[in-house]
Amino acid sequence: MFDLSGHRVWVAGHRGMVGAAVVRRLASEPVEVLTADRDAVDLVRQNQVEDWIAAHRPSVVVVAAARVGGIAANDARPVDFLYDNLMIEANILAAAAKIGVAKLIFLGSSCIYPREAAQPIREDALLTGPLEPTNQWYAIAKIAGIKLAEAYRRQHGHDFISAMPTNLYGPGDNYDLESSHVIPALLRKAITARDAGAAEMVVWGTGRPRREFMHVDDLADAIVFLLKHYSASAHINVGTGCDLPIADLAAMVARTVGFTGRLCFDTSRPDGTPRKLMDSSRLAELGWRPRIGLQEGLADAWRAYVTAT
Ligand code: GDP
Repeated sequence: MFDLSGHRVWVAGHRGMVGAAVVRRLASEPVEVLTADRDAVDLVRQNQVEDWIAAHRPSVVVVAAARVGGIAANDARPVDFLYDNLMIEANILAAAAKIGVAKLIFLGSSCIYPREAAQPIREDALLTGPLEPTNQWYAIAKIAGIKLAEAYRRQHGHDFISAMPTNLYGPGDNYDLESSHVIPALLRKAITARDAGAAEMVVWGTGRPRREFMHVDDLADAIVFLLKHYSASAHINVGTGCDLPIADLAAMVARTVGFTGRLCFDTSRPDGTPRKLMDSSRLAELGWRPRIGLQEGLADAWRAYVTAT
């Protein structure tokens, strides 16, 4: 059990969907939350990260900063996804180790696992087969981050841990149709189609791939739980244990926002990995469970989108 009380917790990436949710969640913990704006520190630049950390001296670090995006963005901007993520994680972990923080949590993604991994995907499936090509750039950077956290623990004894969240959604998501993930894209498309009185809305791919989704507030709660209760070199999956086909998700989104037209599947767009359901039983055994169901979560994400636009 790690006592968070009195710690100075740096949430790196607090403007992103995950970082913002962690900041909201930490408001109910007896900690001081530190954040750094992009003009104060560019996380891709090693000297800026070292200087910022040395000046502000966090004692706990949540690495929620990353270059993220959906299936199209990953494919279109491989350098951004590989180089930026490698630099961000290496700079933060090295600087945190240098000042000797008491705890650090690194966040990866379910796309680190092989494309053909047995489902649900256990943590030990890592590096047992080829990756899904559409998001290999991001995945390779995240695998390097997990290994770097593990290496710091092994070589220098730092209490660095890694969590692998499943596909996330919620307030603060990216709603740009070309670079977003599927839930924000479908929410926006369904609202636009409903408002235009359109007969159909477009869903990418065949609708057959299956995905697992978690509301970002559940992830933030899991992160705080892991900071307190987990200390080991093995990374740990954070998922809901439920997945569904994209076609069913699209129907649910349409119902949520009140779009009653047809779903039209654009098979010129990629499906990506056929299925991505994680085995989160290790986390469940530690005593943590998600609270927000998909129906309730989609309604919340919709409200947040409407408020933000
Ligand atoms: P992935 O989990 O890394 O494949 O990332 P995404 O969230 O971008 O895509 C998940 C699945 O949803 C893929 O099979 C996409 O083809 C499908 N999908 C259906 N419609 C959309 C859409 O409008 N945007 C995105 N990003 N994906 C969509």
